[in-house]
Amino acid sequence: METEKIAMEKATKNYGKNLASAIKNNCKDQKCPFHGSLRVRGKTIQGTVTKKFPKRVVIVFERIVYVRKYERYKKTRIKIHARLPDCISNEINIGDTAIAKECRPLSKIIHFVVVDKLNLGGVKK
Ligand SMILES: [Zn+2]
Repeated sequence: METEKIAMEKATKNYGKNLASAIKNNCKDQKCPFHGSLRVRGKTIQGTVTKKFPKRVVIVFERIVYVRKYERYKKTRIKIHARLPDCISNEINIGDTAIAKECRPLSKIIHFVVVDKLNLGGVKK
């Protein structure tokens, strides 16, 4: 258990800085990367929150893909569903830029979890 905790802290250490005040309140969510037993690994994505559901958000982001036929690049929009832990659900709203990290598949469509957000207080960089 102890080593698991340390590994979890390492994985989420660089995230959640903008949500630190919310993370201080313990939540009973088992599938929370900060308080539960959910471990994060793999890809990190960053995008705009377009929809919000109980315990889940939709994040849209753009990616540049090479098209071989035309020897050019095109932009594609990618939509993913990410789990929203209980402790930060009040902090993430539609229009925010959220950072999500890959985790184990939690359901058919959810294999990411929200770990942080950007632009605190609506300040854009
Ligand atoms: Zn939590």
